[in-house]
Amino acid sequence: MDCVKKMKYVLVSGGVVSGLGKGVTASSIGVVLKACGLRVTSIKIDPYLNTDAGTMSPFEHGEVFVLDDGGEVDLDLGNYERFLDVTLTRDNNITTGKIYQSVIDKERKGDYLGKTVQVVPHITDAIQEWIERVSLIPVDGSTEPADVCVIELGGTVGDIESMPFIEALRQLSYRVGPGNFCLVHVSLVPVLGVVGEQKTKPTQHSVRELRGLGLTPHLLACRSAQALEENVKDKLSQFCHVPAGHILNIYDVSNIWHVPLLLRDQKAHDAILKDLDLLSVAKTPCLEEWTARAAQSDTLTNPVRIAMVGKYTGLSDAYVSVVKALQHASIKCKRKLTIEWIAASDLEDTTAKEAPDSHTAAWNSLKGSDGILVPGGFGDRGVQGKILAAKYARENNVPYLGICLGMQIAVIEFARSVLGMAEANSTEFDKETPHPCVIFMPEGSKTHMGGTMRLGSRRTYFQNADCITAKLYGKSDYVDERHRHRYEVNPNMVEKLEKSGLMFVGKDETGRRMEILELPCHPYFVGVQFHPEFKSRPGKVSAVFLGLILAASGQLKSHLKKLSSSIMISNRRVENGISSAMNGHTNGNGNSSPLRYPNGNGNHARA
Ligand code: GLN
Repeated sequence: MDCVKKMKYVLVSGGVVSGLGKGVTASSIGVVLKACGLRVTSIKIDPYLNTDAGTMSPFEHGEVFVLDDGGEVDLDLGNYERFLDVTLTRDNNITTGKIYQSVIDKERKGDYLGKTVQVVPHITDAIQEWIERVSLIPVDGSTEPADVCVIELGGTVGDIESMPFIEALRQLSYRVGPGNFCLVHVSLVPVLGVVGEQKTKPTQHSVRELRGLGLTPHLLACRSAQALEENVKDKLSQFCHVPAGHILNIYDVSNIWHVPLLLRDQKAHDAILKDLDLLSVAKTPCLEEWTARAAQSDTLTNPVRIAMVGKYTGLSDAYVSVVKALQHASIKCKRKLTIEWIAASDLEDTTAKEAPDSHTAAWNSLKGSDGILVPGGFGDRGVQGKILAAKYARENNVPYLGICLGMQIAVIEFARSVLGMAEANSTEFDKETPHPCVIFMPEGSKTHMGGTMRLGSRRTYFQNADCITAKLYGKSDYVDERHRHRYEVNPNMVEKLEKSGLMFVGKDETGRRMEILELPCHPYFVGVQFHPEFKSRPGKVSAVFLGLILAASGQLKSHLKKLSSSIMISNRRVENGISSAMNGHTNGNGNSSPLRYPNGNGNHARA
């Protein structure tokens, strides 16, 4: 098992309790290293037995994140993609299920040549091989592997199910040797009692546990409510055998963008880069964009209220990428985002009888919102409530964004209210409906749930460059977005729906599958069959989320006007540039190619 490239590994483990924000810590470490000029990839290890997160309930485990390659993975991969602006693959999420499956497949093929197949060495070898192989996959658009791979080990050190991973990582660290492996252990420093003393004992215990398993932390990342007292750091250093300068403190901050800044201010990069022998090649991280975003997010006061009408409203992790995409868009629109979480079933008439207070409260918050979002979902709970929300948005000119199920809901509502098909439905909820406006897709499976949907990046072609979504995307041809669904708009009902004013402005390459709908006579009524939230980045806001927030804050019209005048100006520039270039050598660099743009460097000017 020789390394092809000398990959540098940063392992992030966790102790004391789960839910410490290990994922955010690990991604923030990646951000700081990236700001030092290094190229960073990441791997998330989930020690559970599921092959992937696809079959796991968002209620229990948070959102299922979907990658370009169709991988259904842990939501932490979303953090990495957003923070590092990379595109990961399904193999960047390792689970016990995947590792055992690969080992058992090999055993069935006879690859172990009669040997007894065991956790050590076969499972532990498979884990190391997987890590080394996947760390080399380029993730940032170039063809080269990254310089550093951040590995996050899910769970808490000492869990039975993470033992083979700990052992594999111990072996890996020994094999790649000092200078190539750095372990950051995330732990908690709680405050107890009225005295308010910061307690180091839980951290001491978890470091002892880690050492007992053969791993030595190079850095500690201590989570705490308030900044750590100096004497607490000294104590941790003394008892955990980690230099005081290597004890990082991530105390509670007002927004997530501060975390990389905290790490940079504490010189986390210097300590890590020293351990990885990379100090000489790294530059000083400045993180200007992150600083501006963190500060801006703190100072926004002008509110925008978005009603999120969903099923798992008790757990915001169930919609974490949607929330992030809304935040990205709100910051861009200089608005302070407030999300009104509405359990869709509370809007239904049955709730009016059984729990009238919840019903009234739900309707009040829907009506008090500036925009309505119906996110993706499965199963029929709350469907009627979502239909009522879409109806309310359509009839009252309230900006609406329907994502996946939210788009299907908009179609059902339109068929019922406008086409007069009172029993119109998706066959997901009513197999016998006389008006199936949403139907099962032939490529799905009804018997096997894992990985059998239409998954991953697919292309949507705009049918009309003049629609709002094409303008917001700044594209007139196509967009690539990620999908996760089994049902689709019934192509046989499209003509009827369009005749009554519901326009399908984006379709797949066959023209039979509806991808984007718009209601042209409405300020902003958009449904998308894909999940745009998975590709939203802090600096690259998703177009349809931007549209929702712009519309909800009364800025959409002026934004579209600005867009069209900047397109006109750039078209004029291009025309002038091309004609002057064609007239001969006038672009100042002696090159008369009509393909050269007039900014003198041959790059396409960005609108
Ligand atoms: N349940 C719907 C389908 O399978 C919508 C899926 C979703 O919203 N992700 O098509």
